[in-house]
Amino acid sequence: MESKAAVYRGNQSFSIDKKQISPPAADEVQIDVAYCGICGTDLHIYLGHMDERVGVERTIGHEMSGTISEVGREVHHLKKGQPVVVRPLDPCGSCPACAAGHEHICHSLNFIGIDTEGAFQQKWNVPADTIHKLPESLDLAHAALIEPLAVACHSVNRANVKRGEDVLVIGGGPIGMLVALVARHAGSNVTIAEINSNRQSYAAKLGFDTGNPDTTDVAKSMHAKTNGKGADVVFEVSGSQAGAELMTQAAATRGRIVMVAIHATKPNVDLFQFFWRELELIGARVYRKEDYDEAMQLLSASVVDCDSFITDIKPLEDIQSAFQMLTANPNAMKTMIKISA
Ligand SMILES: [Zn+2]
Ligand SMILES: [Zn+2]
Repeated sequence: MESKAAVYRGNQSFSIDKKQISPPAADEVQIDVAYCGICGTDLHIYLGHMDERVGVERTIGHEMSGTISEVGREVHHLKKGQPVVVRPLDPCGSCPACAAGHEHICHSLNFIGIDTEGAFQQKWNVPADTIHKLPESLDLAHAALIEPLAVACHSVNRANVKRGEDVLVIGGGPIGMLVALVARHAGSNVTIAEINSNRQSYAAKLGFDTGNPDTTDVAKSMHAKTNGKGADVVFEVSGSQAGAELMTQAAATRGRIVMVAIHATKPNVDLFQFFWRELELIGARVYRKEDYDEAMQLLSASVVDCDSFITDIKPLEDIQSAFQMLTANPNAMKTMIKISA
């Protein structure tokens, strides 16, 4: 079957190609992709930072929604026409992490849409066990936010955020904003530290306390508004050295710090504070099955204002300019590529 696909060709370029797609294997399903969001990781790929891992002839994309168009011979629990999202993780199933039940951080995890072909194409074959069924009522453009929302759910679950706690989210990009929304839904009081004034005002519009670390001492104001206590939980979502400094400064005694960002270079971290105030550092990477289910529930419960969160919807043919725009404009939240909705 023929399928239109965007192919990353290296050096900030995509081609739109007609590809031959084989029928799904026995344990796979084929999906008519409806929407696929552009992720921060996709931007890194586009900018050439990940050519060694990804190569220069790959269809990328993993923040998607769609409808099942064909079902493999051995797949009995799914039907043609079912709206779905894909949890784009393909673990080995036999390493110590998998054996311990941590398949999402498998030692040789295959991330579908980075390490193998992704969703910026009309027809997509994926393992049937990556599928989550969507309720019919969910808008497919909104459903493409489930993957990044699941990252936020996983981060908040790792921190075990409780009602009434004070939370600081460092970095108000798409993931930081979703972490803030999920943490608030868990009953905490959330402050967002963000240097971009447009993102800061979007956070304020969503009802969050905000602080700009370029112009104010966010750690100081965090302590001031909590009677000197500080943030019970800090999410580091900025990936910056400044963020790594703020996270220990703003944390309460016995505070939990969650590392959500990917730091490209190893930041300097004030380990002394971990000893002195018995801080805890928690890693959070991608998501478990349960986080996906939770993300779907939160989306159905309108925890995310999808219409303001999705800043642009572009057709597949315009993928090149969509990536160009996003790299030039750090104000945008989520850009969606409309594929065959
Ligand atoms: Zn993503
Ligand atoms: Zn494994």
